[in-house]
Amino acid sequence: MSMTSLDPTAPTPHAVQPQAGAPQWSLLAITAHPDDEARIIGGTLAKYAAEGVTTSILCATRGERGSRGDPPLCSPEELPAFRERELREACTILGLRNLRLLQYRDGELPTAEPEKIIGEILRAFEEWQPQVVITFGPEGRSRHPDHIAIHRFASVAFQQAKGPAAPAKLYYMAFPQSVREVISPRFPGVPDEAISLTLDVSPWLDLKRRAIAAHRTQARPPFAHLPEARRWEILSREYYILAESRLPVRPEAEHDLFDGLPALTARSHG
Ligand SMILES: [Zn+2]
Repeated sequence: MSMTSLDPTAPTPHAVQPQAGAPQWSLLAITAHPDDEARIIGGTLAKYAAEGVTTSILCATRGERGSRGDPPLCSPEELPAFRERELREACTILGLRNLRLLQYRDGELPTAEPEKIIGEILRAFEEWQPQVVITFGPEGRSRHPDHIAIHRFASVAFQQAKGPAAPAKLYYMAFPQSVREVISPRFPGVPDEAISLTLDVSPWLDLKRRAIAAHRTQARPPFAHLPEARRWEILSREYYILAESRLPVRPEAEHDLFDGLPALTARSHG
């Protein structure tokens, strides 16, 4: 299959344009690999899309060093395009409006030219005007060097953003220590008290499950060593640390990624 027909800047086919002139709630997740969005924050993305928020993903690589499936579903040469299709399918399931894939190679993000990738992230801020940005925390979720690298670039981009395109809040995806202990010591956790916001995404668990399954080359389910019921119980909560905020006041307790932001359009709470 050819990569030339794939325009990495094109919106996903299901894209719906917002009403002209209407202010929009906008949420951007900055990830490293196809499937990060489904496995880690799929419930959050589905929830906010269902509530009418413009949800977008900026994914830095096509995950070409990942599994091809067992048995393999494609050749090594086909894997980047194959995983891009899986990602687009997952985005459609989650109701995402925008997807942009950057041209970095899986495993090589730590050597990306900082100015270039930070500029690409700043451009996404300008185009999509997210009030809220989500990315990896400094521990990179699983200590993956690409996750740690995109954490650094996204955090610097947030700090450098100026004017109306500057997002108001930056959140890191996190794993509380108490959850990590039941999953695996392989995953670094953060102290439970450092978590700012826990989202119960159980109403969107089926969409998350389908989005995870769309990544057919990455067939091993998350936390596969746990009994299935326990696994989905863990996947029904997604955890965040509020890392940066431009809001004048930080809410004492956070219940929503958009807490503390001035009201724009009405959002339906699912
Ligand atoms: Zn990843």
